[in-house]
Amino acid sequence: MPELPEVETTARGLRDRLIGRRVVGVAGVDWPRMLPNASADAIATALAGRAVTQVSRRGKYLLLLFEAGLSLALHRKMSGNVLLQRTEEPAAAHTHFILRFSGGLDLRFVDARKFGRIHLFSSDVEREQFLGQRLGPEPLTDLDGAILGERLRGRRRAIKTLLLDQSVVAGVGNLYADEALWEARIHPERGADSLTRPELRRLAAAIKRVLELGIERRGTSFSNYLDADGAPGTNQDYLNVYGRAARPCPRCGTPVSRVRLGARSSHFCARCQRAARPDARRAAIVPASGGEQLLEPRGGLERTDHRQAEGVGPPQRRRHPL
Ligand SMILES: [Zn+2]
Repeated sequence: MPELPEVETTARGLRDRLIGRRVVGVAGVDWPRMLPNASADAIATALAGRAVTQVSRRGKYLLLLFEAGLSLALHRKMSGNVLLQRTEEPAAAHTHFILRFSGGLDLRFVDARKFGRIHLFSSDVEREQFLGQRLGPEPLTDLDGAILGERLRGRRRAIKTLLLDQSVVAGVGNLYADEALWEARIHPERGADSLTRPELRRLAAAIKRVLELGIERRGTSFSNYLDADGAPGTNQDYLNVYGRAARPCPRCGTPVSRVRLGARSSHFCARCQRAARPDARRAAIVPASGGEQLLEPRGGLERTDHRQAEGVGPPQRRRHPL
């Protein structure tokens, strides 16, 4: 599934060639459901003769801005690709939307699984409201440990599951979430509200790092992602855990684990990313007669329990020298 780096790579590939170009028509729409808020005719009428003023991205949405405040937001969902092709070139199979520009250029939305969606907006306010209702902060510019902590406060679900929630952080999907959690050495099934401040800082930095590297490598073509010119990215050659079940963790050599979490696969290193944390073991180590300890301030109790856990828990495995 295209995530932030793939959408950003597409936006960069389109920007120079689309800005200033005028829309001359809409064609190829054989799947009306991909246009949830306007018909193909309505889009053609609204955009006819309008020039592109900007090509940008918010989360996994590719944004095409036009004169008079009009815009389109394209979401590729599972498998969609957005290609820039000459009008005379034959359209690929599964092309479900063509935006035709002056100068003989087509923007073509190719989407075999038909989950992709294109919204039309008549003003910046309308578009920003739509995006604001769905998307959390932009990770590359608006995320740090403190902001991530705010977004996760009181959320007990697995951190991996919440990273996939676009209202928590925009743009991260299954692949980059697995890579970021590995980078930050955090187990995907950890309860989000159990992450410590240093872990939140590490995770926010890891999210940025894996996304920035993904952009540098022009996206990950793990399945069928192609850039605007139909070329694959190279990030699939650098993955540490995603899609690498049973292969050695690049950091410690332990075979990479894969678990089902929700409906998705999660890949992680069981040695570098420990599931256990002090308060998960609390129930097992606080004696029945010491139950009143639970009323003590949370911080102090956690520190005490942590030491007890180290003492009475299973022997700790030695860290790998790497
Ligand atoms: Zn490892």
